[in-house]
Amino acid sequence: MWKNLRFWLYRLWVVDCVGCGSLVVHPRGLCLSCEYGILDQYLSSAEQAEELEKSGLRFRYLFRWVPGASDVLSKYVYLLKSPVAEPLWHELARYFVSLKGISRDQKIVFVPIPSRKKRKHSLYFAQALAEQCEGVVLELLSIDDSDELEQKVKNKEQRSKVSFTLNEEITEQMRLDHSLVVVDDVITTGASFEAAYNVLKWMRVCPKNIELWAAFRRETMSIDFE
Ligand SMILES: [Zn+2]
Repeated sequence: MWKNLRFWLYRLWVVDCVGCGSLVVHPRGLCLSCEYGILDQYLSSAEQAEELEKSGLRFRYLFRWVPGASDVLSKYVYLLKSPVAEPLWHELARYFVSLKGISRDQKIVFVPIPSRKKRKHSLYFAQALAEQCEGVVLELLSIDDSDELEQKVKNKEQRSKVSFTLNEEITEQMRLDHSLVVVDDVITTGASFEAAYNVLKWMRVCPKNIELWAAFRRETMSIDFE
């Protein structure tokens, strides 16, 4: 009941498919034809978690997003990053859990990666995943404010130095044997995840059983010059 209502509230703001303009829109936010196009080409086929190259940390994601390669997918990513898209994250989370074969009784603790611009997509996704898995969301991380340079003016190396602080008051309950899932909307290099892992490990919060779950994995287009 509430789930349907949530979607119709969204439809008050966005009436058509962002991919093609069709008025018949699926609860994940696209018409069926645009959604099939994306599923066909960009859905991650990996059933197991993959590992980051350097650190070996494990991550899972739903869609490969290569900006420039698919107009529809890029529009969909921007739609999900808009303030009205919260209901769509619930549908995406339901899909994530069923597709990745996640069991629903693992007592997972979800920790969203905070956004520098105070956007809430990773929190929406974490809440939606927790709803699917009967887990809990703990907003353990904050952006380290001593780092004042805006992300956009930084070069790639500086950007990878994003750092977080831990919200001290909720760490004690976290030193328990839970599975911990760090949640982000998009994973690019994995640097944010590594920074999150480092601060959690430093504070002795569940460093063993940890993964990152993201909706999109952003890749750069490789151009073949042959
Ligand atoms: Zn469409």
